[in-house]
Amino acid sequence: MMINNIEKLREEIESTDSILIGAGAGLSAAAGFDYSGERFRKYFGDFIEKYGFTDMYTGGFHEFDSPEEHWAYWSRYVWINRYMDTDNGVYRKLYELVRDKNYFVITTNVDHCFQKAGFDKNRLFYTQGDYGLFQCSEPCHKKTYDNEDTIRKMFNEQRDMRIPSELIPRCPVCSKPMCMNLRSDDKFVEDEGWHEGLRRYNEYVSAHTLKKMLLLELGVGMNTPGIIKYPFWRMADEFPNTRYACVNIDFPYVPGEIREQTTLVSGDIRQVLDELIRN
Ligand SMILES: [Zn+2]
Repeated sequence: MMINNIEKLREEIESTDSILIGAGAGLSAAAGFDYSGERFRKYFGDFIEKYGFTDMYTGGFHEFDSPEEHWAYWSRYVWINRYMDTDNGVYRKLYELVRDKNYFVITTNVDHCFQKAGFDKNRLFYTQGDYGLFQCSEPCHKKTYDNEDTIRKMFNEQRDMRIPSELIPRCPVCSKPMCMNLRSDDKFVEDEGWHEGLRRYNEYVSAHTLKKMLLLELGVGMNTPGIIKYPFWRMADEFPNTRYACVNIDFPYVPGEIREQTTLVSGDIRQVLDELIRN
């Protein structure tokens, strides 16, 4: 299949040293993180049968009767999306493409794929949290905690859709239940690492107000356009040497004011990266 504007995108990438990547759910979907298909049926068959969930997200919003059942669900969710090796190569190819450039990544994805593919964690800003972190549900303090050991045990030791009660995670400070460090309401903990990411992102942007930079937007939908899409449009409009490229499976839209500095690529990100890496 021919992908429109692929050569133009290739030129834009080759002709700049600085690339600011803005990545949304579409990038992880292209990497094989399917939240509704076969993976969902394989790991959540019992929950689908009991509750009729149609995809992993829906189940994630369900209020289960007990914390044992809640964590049986969530430990599977986190294990397969954060700790299992799912990436079909999309993130690694993206890394190949930008590794020798002065890159920075801002993403709403919480699956840790950038770091797993080799991206420097000092060049990443995860705005919405990380499946790999717990926080206090209150929250009584602004720290996050690595959850790999606990999640692994919950995943392995659950029976009949319940984890053993002693595995229910509790805040080490106030003993209230822990929850996922994911932005869903105003209780989301922005910890030190989060603020460090924000600071580095702002620093990168300020350093490029006049310098040549490519804004590379990948798979960003319209759920939270205020985090990546609108700021990218604004920068493309206001910074004189900034170019903007948007790759999306749906036909991407861009305001008339920045059309001249924009490359729109409509297609599957996996195919687009394959094309770009080839040559
Ligand atoms: Zn607490």
